[in-house]
Amino acid sequence: MQPSVKSKGPADAFGRPLLNLRISVTDRCNLRCRYCMPEEEYGWLPREELLSFEEISELAGIFTEVGIEKVRLTGGEPLLRKDLPVLVRMLAQNPRIRDLALTTNGVLLAGQAQALWDAGLHRLTVSLDTLRPDRFLVLTRRDAHAPVLRGIEAARQAGFRALKIDAVVVRGANEDELADLIEFGKRAGAEVRFIEYMDVGGATQWSRSKVVSRAEMLDALSRRYGRIEPVVEDCSAPAERFLLADGTVFGIIASTTTPFCRRCDRSRLTADGIWYLCLYAQKGTDLRKSLRSGATRDEIKSLIVSQWTKRTDRGAEERKDLPSRGVLVGIQQLRQDPHLEMHTRGG
Ligand code: SAM
Ligand code: SF4
Ligand code: SF4
Repeated sequence: MQPSVKSKGPADAFGRPLLNLRISVTDRCNLRCRYCMPEEEYGWLPREELLSFEEISELAGIFTEVGIEKVRLTGGEPLLRKDLPVLVRMLAQNPRIRDLALTTNGVLLAGQAQALWDAGLHRLTVSLDTLRPDRFLVLTRRDAHAPVLRGIEAARQAGFRALKIDAVVVRGANEDELADLIEFGKRAGAEVRFIEYMDVGGATQWSRSKVVSRAEMLDALSRRYGRIEPVVEDCSAPAERFLLADGTVFGIIASTTTPFCRRCDRSRLTADGIWYLCLYAQKGTDLRKSLRSGATRDEIKSLIVSQWTKRTDRGAEERKDLPSRGVLVGIQQLRQDPHLEMHTRGG
């Protein structure tokens, strides 16, 4: 496996740098997307175990000292975390974070977009899988389509220019809306990215037959738009970008059929401070324990470096090679360990 990005920080066992940290600020969510939270009941992280903003900022600071340059806030639904702009302001003051972004389902965005922008957040991804309110209700089990659209508009008004719209494509649910979403993105001034349905923890209804592959998406889009050119880029971003004849760019994140583990420089910190080296990892490192037991910054740095340098994770590639691929984690195991859930780990 060849590393693709040069970095000042440590490299893992396959030479991949530690550059990108996703911080989940809550495991709670106000939607119940069928590909992420299809169950009726969930076990939640105890509130007293959630990291405070000071603790998150402290850990983020330590991570940036060992190489992290990109931070994305996520969840659960990050806008459910009270006073989130306060955390954004704290992180935005760290000059080592050269890219601070947030992924949201957009439901609460209209009321928070301006405060987030003013606090120093300038990159935003909104998840939106359908333009049809009836489908939104089926997909997310909540009647909140209109607030999401208002949120996207409010984000633009607030100043967000590098807006992205992420859509998980699920067969039988929304695969006939690819072009409509691209057209919506054009009107909204946003770049649309289609994500292949992944068999992550939490996706207890996943099956291979529901995955719409990158190849299939490109086929459908070229029937509508004609020639589609790949955009040639040298970066570790998961989305491959494509260009339509009219200059519109869109992305596809083909994590299921064409995993990008060999370029993966990202890791994840849960809202209660467990650090995972891969979306599919079964075990993480408890950084909250280190922080609350009085470990020094240097001790935490050493712990991070020692874990990263041993990293051999390539979860999606291993899943792809399985002869029969089904649900990753059953509901009983998820109930015993909510850390295995996508909504806890942060997508
Ligand atoms: N709640 C926020 C949201 O939905 O944008 C942030 C957290 S969510 C876990 C982050 C991203 O993970 C979303 O774009 C969501 O669509 C994606 N996601 C969740 N489950 C997925 C799955 N089974 N396959 C692919 N993407 C998934
Ligand atoms: Fe949907 Fe995001 Fe909530 Fe998962 S965390 S249920 S993807 S809104
Ligand atoms: Fe990175 Fe793991 Fe995802 Fe592969 S499966 S891209 S190693 S997080």
